[in-house]
Amino acid sequence: MTPLLVILSAPSGTGKTTIARALRTSRDDVGFSISATTRARRDGEEEGVDYFFLTANAFQRKIDAEEFVEWARYGKERYGTLASEVRRILDSGKHAVLDIEIQGARMVRERVANVVSIFILPPSAEALQERLAGRSTEDDEALAARLALAVEELEAAPEYDYIVVNEDRAQAVADVAGIIDAESHRASRLTDLDATIERLGDELENLARSTKA
Ligand code: 5GP
Repeated sequence: MTPLLVILSAPSGTGKTTIARALRTSRDDVGFSISATTRARRDGEEEGVDYFFLTANAFQRKIDAEEFVEWARYGKERYGTLASEVRRILDSGKHAVLDIEIQGARMVRERVANVVSIFILPPSAEALQERLAGRSTEDDEALAARLALAVEELEAAPEYDYIVVNEDRAQAVADVAGIIDAESHRASRLTDLDATIERLGDELENLARSTKA
């Protein structure tokens, strides 16, 4: 199997994290990159499982130390993919899935060859609003800001290789799994595994160097 770098993006509230969780439990050949973020922990989230929750200063130190493959501002917070996370997953021979927003996705897609990018669409605007409103940690202002961001994000959907509509969660999980399976069987990807890992590692190191703020 050729390990892939897979980007999953969606407006928040689309159910992407739930899809990602289901994929994690159903597939042991898929590893999820745990991002760093400056945002506050939500109820039920765990440090080092859902995110590495950092202070703004700690996040900045990681930017300065060139530890990120990519990072982006989202609303008032910052989020970033650690090169060490992607390395950890690829070194274990698994597909590395990055659950990231559109700016980070653009950066990774532009600079790393053969990335598979998947955009998840909500079934309707109402469904998205309901999911966002259901989050107890969001106040009205944060909710309005997230909805505005969602409109902007939806416009980026055509930049992605694949679109999955989250009408039915089980189907959406099966769709994402099917895309990963098909992509990993592409003839053009069936190169020597060690060479692939080496190449991705080199590309990621270059990327980390060039994303230094
Ligand atoms: P949330 O706060 O709802 O967990 O995430 C907000 C947005 O940040 C989501 O679209 C999520 O995909 C994105 N995100 C999470 N981790 C990263 C990351 O490491 N880099 C980037 N660019 N976006 C991320």
